Amino acid sequence: MSHRYFFHETPAVVSIFPVTTAILFVLHTLIAFFMLMQYMANRKKLYLAVLSFAYSLSAFYLVYKLLYYPGIFLTGAVLEGSVNDLAIYWIFRSISMAAVFLLTAFLYQRRDTLCISHRRVLSIVLAASCLAVIFAYFLSSKNPLFGMEIVTADGRDYSQLWSGKMGYIIGGIWALATVLIISVTRLKNTFWLAIGLSCISYLGNVSILHSSIYIHSLVWYYARFFEVLSTFFVVIVLLYDISMVYKKTLMKYQISYESSIRDPLTNLYNRRYYYDAMKTYLDKKQSGVRLAVMVADIDYFKRFNDTYGHIQGDEVIKYVAWSLSHSLRDQDIPSRIGGEEYSALVIGASEEEVRTMAERFRINVTQHHRSEFPGTLPAPVTVSVGIYFMGSEDDKAEACVAKADAAMYQAKQSGRNRIVVFGEASL
Ligand code: GH3
Ligand code: MG
Ligand code: MG
Repeated sequence: MSHRYFFHETPAVVSIFPVTTAILFVLHTLIAFFMLMQYMANRKKLYLAVLSFAYSLSAFYLVYKLLYYPGIFLTGAVLEGSVNDLAIYWIFRSISMAAVFLLTAFLYQRRDTLCISHRRVLSIVLAASCLAVIFAYFLSSKNPLFGMEIVTADGRDYSQLWSGKMGYIIGGIWALATVLIISVTRLKNTFWLAIGLSCISYLGNVSILHSSIYIHSLVWYYARFFEVLSTFFVVIVLLYDISMVYKKTLMKYQISYESSIRDPLTNLYNRRYYYDAMKTYLDKKQSGVRLAVMVADIDYFKRFNDTYGHIQGDEVIKYVAWSLSHSLRDQDIPSRIGGEEYSALVIGASEEEVRTMAERFRINVTQHHRSEFPGTLPAPVTVSVGIYFMGSEDDKAEACVAKADAAMYQAKQSGRNRIVVFGEASL
């Protein structure tokens, strides 16, 4: 009784109801869609499908309600009906949604233990909702036999709704749904926080409407805005949630991709990635970019294993890998192609620059005592390096590595700890 501001005669104010109904319809459809997508992505979360259903159902009631307002789709109303009918649909929307929220709380609590056919649950929810819609239709003025009068003929006074049992049923079921959602989920993440807020907003809505029985009193507009705002919040949270899931998935993908292309001992690229990368560059050879292949092998490596054990041998392999990647540039591709054999694709460097890099690598390896390598070595290490400068006729990665390998073998033959370029005599 307290808020009797009859400013509803102003067209701008009257239009608030259909406008908020249209906004709610869009938001509820979006929420239903997002939740359904999340359920499709993770079929274990049945409660998401049920929640999606709650919002779809609400969207259905809202669009039905829109058909009653004149000027939304046509100049006149599409459906003939009274404010009483709208009130009946509102009651059914509220009760059905609260019931589905209750079911959501139950499914969430039993999510790990409940063995139940998702299809059966969703079919039962669908059948119950259809029955509710049919029942609402019969109670509306469409059927004079079962008509339920809850609003006065002028469409302003809702006292009949709130004075009867219906008001307590709606308030009670929303209070129960709110308490259960909050206690079962403990609002443990933003998603449940949004759903909890949604429940509180409905409960608040019901009590706001209960506090004033006049449809055009100011609180009815507040209630509408409150519902739109809280639903908007749910959409924002869902979008945020989806972006977080996307970010996490992307990070996991990046981590697993990185580990699939790297050698676990040295963190250099692995053989498969190296050959794939070479093939890609060979395909692009027409672009005129200069390519060179280096192959390096540790000299007398067996001695490390035999004298100091395999663990120390591994340290030597890591050290040479570290030296190789520190001697090349970022755009080059260093890899471990065998036990203590390495190969690198040097991209876009002149022959002179490639020779300088190879020499820097060879010297860096021998100067372990001056390097910043975090591990320790049992004895000095040297490497033999072969280089092959790719020509325009090259089209096979394996053949190019074989030529650099042949040059490396020549370096071994002529005394080790040196560099040989394929096709040139060793020094
Ligand atoms: P050379 O100067 O002629 O290359 O002599 P080498 O002793 O280095 O001979 P070779 O290259 O054939 O040595 C390869 C050895 O590397 C054989 C194998 O036991 C060892 N090896 C291969 N993979 C690993 C590994 O992952 N860890 C360790 N510790 N040893 C490995
Ligand atoms: Mg070897
Ligand atoms: Mg060796």
